[in-house]
Amino acid sequence: MTEEPILLTPGPLTTAEAVKRAMLRDWGSRDADFSALTSKVMAKLLAVAKAGPDYCAVPLQGSGTFAVEAMLGTFGPREGRLLVPVNGAYAKRMVEIARRLGLDVVDEAGIPYEPLEPDRLRETLRRDPSIRSVALVHCETGAGLLNPLSALARAVAEEGRDLLVDSMSGFGALPVDAESLGFTALAASANKCLEGVPGMAFVIARRDALERAKGRSPSIVLDLAAQHAQFEADGQWRFTPPTHVVAALGGALALLEREGGPPARLKRYEENRDTLVSGMRGLGFEPFLGASHQAPIIVAFRQPRESWFSFAAFYEALKSRGFAIYGGKLAEEATFRVGTIGAIDRSTVKRFLAAAAQVLRELQRTGTGDAL
Ligand SMILES: *Cc1c(COP(=O)(O)O)cnc(C)c1O
Repeated sequence: MTEEPILLTPGPLTTAEAVKRAMLRDWGSRDADFSALTSKVMAKLLAVAKAGPDYCAVPLQGSGTFAVEAMLGTFGPREGRLLVPVNGAYAKRMVEIARRLGLDVVDEAGIPYEPLEPDRLRETLRRDPSIRSVALVHCETGAGLLNPLSALARAVAEEGRDLLVDSMSGFGALPVDAESLGFTALAASANKCLEGVPGMAFVIARRDALERAKGRSPSIVLDLAAQHAQFEADGQWRFTPPTHVVAALGGALALLEREGGPPARLKRYEENRDTLVSGMRGLGFEPFLGASHQAPIIVAFRQPRESWFSFAAFYEALKSRGFAIYGGKLAEEATFRVGTIGAIDRSTVKRFLAAAAQVLRELQRTGTGDAL
């Protein structure tokens, strides 16, 4: 096997040795040991969300979008409308999911690549009393844009509506305080800031909302109320659980605790981002977003317009030096993205910058978009 690449992507991402090692054991899915592992992992997720006894964590097989669809299907309003303020690709996807589920959706366009505005949200809610719930994205991973979750949540609570949050790309690092945010449900996954491996997601939801949601989901497998009821009844997953992924998440949560919890992790990611942005600027790359709303998760850079630059060649040359990045287009402009999360630190980012500098020199020297 060739050496593993460093994944500078928004997940799956580079994981710690201990997380990989946690998967070197088989678990009987119906065994009490595995039930105990699942409940321990769920308790730790509640602690990460600072959630008290009014909340439970419901795990779900699949990628993050499965949890978003499960959340909208289980808690989306059947009477009244769902407001989705849209300032990025993931909110747009929530609109698509909610429409497919047959919900009555109001999609309100925000200013592209600008954070959502709490005052505007408040006005929309005052104007339209038929809106029952609001679904929004904490960090829009396409551009790496941070939305002001606490101020938005306050507006939703003060206007007496339910809040559903996609906190996929920030959970484990960006602050989430269930008690003060007061959301009905929040979806996230194992393989982003929690630094686990892909294959499972989860929703942190109010207990009373789960009770009320019995029988509402149009899906069998994505019914969070039924999934929760089964855990309460006998501690079991309803369908084959991703046993090794759960074990890896257990290992990843132990590492999160050892690091000092979400505040310490956020600090490491902020250092990664700051090192990356200043180093890339030094190489002539401009970040796509303004610094004030750039989350420490992933940074989008504008592609140079000079003829010697080719993203494909840049990507391949970085890959041969051990680094995987992401392409992407934002606002019809060619960009590329570099993740700052995962089991990496400032020294990893510095090694990436050195590789990027080398590759750039090669591209400029050959002048044809080919690098060695
Ligand atoms: C990653 C992500 C998701 C889920 O994506 P999957 O590919 O299904 O894991 C959803 N929302 C946001 C904001 C994300 O960053």
